[in-house]
Amino acid sequence: MADPRTEEIAANLQEVRERIAGACRDAGRDPDEVTLVVVTKTWPADDVVRLAGLGVRDVGENKDQEASPKAAATEGLGLTWHFIGQLQTNKAASVARYADVVHSVDRVELVTALEKGAAKADRTVDCLVQVSLDPDAPPGRGGAHATEVAQVAAAIADAPHLRLRGVMGVAPVGADPAPAFAILAEALASLRATYPGLDVMSAGMSDDLEQAVAAGATHLRVGSSILGSRAPRG
Ligand SMILES: *Cc1c(COP(=O)(O)O)cnc(C)c1O
Repeated sequence: MADPRTEEIAANLQEVRERIAGACRDAGRDPDEVTLVVVTKTWPADDVVRLAGLGVRDVGENKDQEASPKAAATEGLGLTWHFIGQLQTNKAASVARYADVVHSVDRVELVTALEKGAAKADRTVDCLVQVSLDPDAPPGRGGAHATEVAQVAAAIADAPHLRLRGVMGVAPVGADPAPAFAILAEALASLRATYPGLDVMSAGMSDDLEQAVAAGATHLRVGSSILGSRAPRG
């Protein structure tokens, strides 16, 4: 008999998987094209272990100081770690040591820092260009603006220890996510003219995963629907 927390997570996970299956059915997509990344921020490493036991392979975190010890504590479980948060250049080398995919690459100086860290760790790190989906967002609030996307992508493509895989976006709060995800899909399509192998569109969270699947997302980043409302950060 599983402990109550494991049962809670298992039930939520089942519900989210059903939502994804339903969204794929509606969109005429194969659910195998969609990877669920469970966002474990604010939750303990024990929950990461529970998730692994429930068949989750992909987990996401948005702060290095929290992700780094959690990744170390769960080493050996074969998890793929996704770094999804705003990343300062001085944290890039640390992230490059454990992250398999960095979703939030939004400026050339961050590419330089990640490349340096990945080279030093003798690793290859998959990278997504985070595209700003909110035209009203002030610069520096996460996401490359349309005019910068190609430049950031080119920097990643040129970095020997980084692999350009696609794009990531966060729909603006309080607005219809569909037009925002359409902008992201368009950014991916236009990058594919130069990089035909790009295969990742990271979009969709607990509240808008259906719209993201409809827009073509390949990676959903889901936290609270699976683990509950955010625990206070310890
Ligand atoms: C926290 C977070 C998520 C998950 O959000 P939920 O609403 O809890 O599903 C997804 N993406 C990013 C970038 C996040 O920071």
